[in-house]
Amino acid sequence: MIVDAHLHCSGNETAGGILDALDDAGIDAALVLAPFLTGPFNLSDRTSLVAANAHLSAIVRGHQDRLIGFAVVNPLHPEAAGDLERAVESGLRGLKLVPSGWYPDDDRAHTVYAQAATLNLPILFHSGIFIDGRSGKYCRPVFYEAVREHPSLRVALAHLGWPWTDEANAVGLIDLINGVAPQDCQFRFDFSFGAPPVYRKPVLERALAVLGPGLLQFGSDRFFPCAGGHIRTMMDEVSRLFDEIGLSRDDRNQIMGGTACSWLGLS
Ligand SMILES: [Zn+2]
Repeated sequence: MIVDAHLHCSGNETAGGILDALDDAGIDAALVLAPFLTGPFNLSDRTSLVAANAHLSAIVRGHQDRLIGFAVVNPLHPEAAGDLERAVESGLRGLKLVPSGWYPDDDRAHTVYAQAATLNLPILFHSGIFIDGRSGKYCRPVFYEAVREHPSLRVALAHLGWPWTDEANAVGLIDLINGVAPQDCQFRFDFSFGAPPVYRKPVLERALAVLGPGLLQFGSDRFFPCAGGHIRTMMDEVSRLFDEIGLSRDDRNQIMGGTACSWLGLS
């Protein structure tokens, strides 16, 4: 089972187009994010996020076997926890959070974490630098230790926190040191590439050595609408890296699907 654990909606896609792209890429299931980076959707505009979540709810309806929709809210909006609950009632099954203008240990963020814990939702956090010029200062991996105040939460940090990948490995290592099985750890990491190509092999090697494949998952970070071939190019690059590292078939399968399956509760 191949799972792409990091795909973006733009607002211009259809369910049919997404499913065709996944078929062409050879992907069985996808974590799909509500649009927030393409106009008119904007993290600072609550009304647009409500519309974004409604858009995604309509996309995933009837396709819940393959499309796992993640809502987007902004903890700076007092209505965020309620908006999240309504998005889940409409069929979304997880939460994407992007710290920008708030730190992960902000009281307002804890209100949203508590709602996510109540609803038993996985959370995908942006972590690391932004490529759009927005400040990444809120998104250092160590700040996400705040999540530990909600022990039932199971979260993923995107991009392995690049350029703070050592910090990300350290955050992820703690549960392992304490004997927690990977599927029960609070943190897992996608290596949707934030790192430029020259960093990718050493970053992946260190993450594998410290965290193991059970805490790593593939995400292409592609934006719909797009062709399956566009996603496939990222899968091919990852496959080449796996070849260079000499990764076993079992470990590849874990990263390309197993980790996300157990995180998302897919069979
Ligand atoms: Zn992304």
